[in-house]
Amino acid sequence: MHSIAAENVWQHASAAICRAWQAPTLQSIVRFGALEDSLALLHPMLSLHEVKVRVVQVIEETADTKTFFLKPNLQWRAAGVRAGQFVRVRVEINGRRLERNYSLTSIPGQRLLAITVKRQGQVSAFLHQHVKQGSIVTLSQALGEFVLPDEAALPSKILLLSAGSGITPVMAMLRQLQAWRYRGEIVFLHCCKSAEDWIFASELQTIAAQMLWRCSCQI
Ligand SMILES: Cc1cc2nc3c(=O)[nH]c(=O)nc-3n(C[C@H](O)[C@H](O)[C@H](O)COP(=O)(O)OP(=O)(O)OC[C@H]3O[C@@H](n4cnc5c(N)ncnc54)[C@H](O)[C@@H]3O)c2cc1C
Repeated sequence: MHSIAAENVWQHASAAICRAWQAPTLQSIVRFGALEDSLALLHPMLSLHEVKVRVVQVIEETADTKTFFLKPNLQWRAAGVRAGQFVRVRVEINGRRLERNYSLTSIPGQRLLAITVKRQGQVSAFLHQHVKQGSIVTLSQALGEFVLPDEAALPSKILLLSAGSGITPVMAMLRQLQAWRYRGEIVFLHCCKSAEDWIFASELQTIAAQMLWRCSCQI
């Protein structure tokens, strides 16, 4: 097991190597893939170009849905991330690299990233069964254009609509509105199969009491 202090030292070392890598002379003599492989051997969080995240905590939201809290390496570009965006998660299952998209349920500026995954098929079942505290996973940068407008451009009334695990990007937007202390009217309509399947139910009920104009869960 690698210690967190060692991980930080290695992350800074990797940033220095990245800067050195910009030198054309170095690029011409060191094969990129070989350097990348060597870094991964030194520490699994090190990479010249890939976002690697260490799973810091996993919590059960419902019987089939878990939230993974993730600490990214220095390749994560936090600037410009918007509530509602998603990341592409890459895992290796039986020697095959597989990728799936998961919305960020954390909001920009938080120390840890979060994704909330409903168990459905191959990759989500793998994440549920095998990805635990301390595991390391590869991510893309934040992607997608389904985002909140800028704070200054928010309308005075907002309708949030979601169903099932589709609540995840909308929840990130609601958390962002709460962090911005949005004072307009929000109506949040969410559909799910049963009360037990309502992801984020208790947090939503708390937020509803504080700031939602109307909060309704259709079952
Ligand atoms: C932009 C975006 C954001 C997303 N955000 C989230 C999110 O925040 N949280 C989340 O949980 N998901 C999210 N998803 C969905 C996610 O990307 C995956 O599609 C989902 O996790 C299913 O992937 P899987 O590998 O588990 O299932 P897969 O193995 O790809 O299977 C997909 C579905 O097909 C069914 N299936 C597979 N094989 C068979 C078969 N032989 N016969 C019958 N049925 C079969 C599975 O049961 C499953 O329901 C998002 C998708 C997009 C595009």
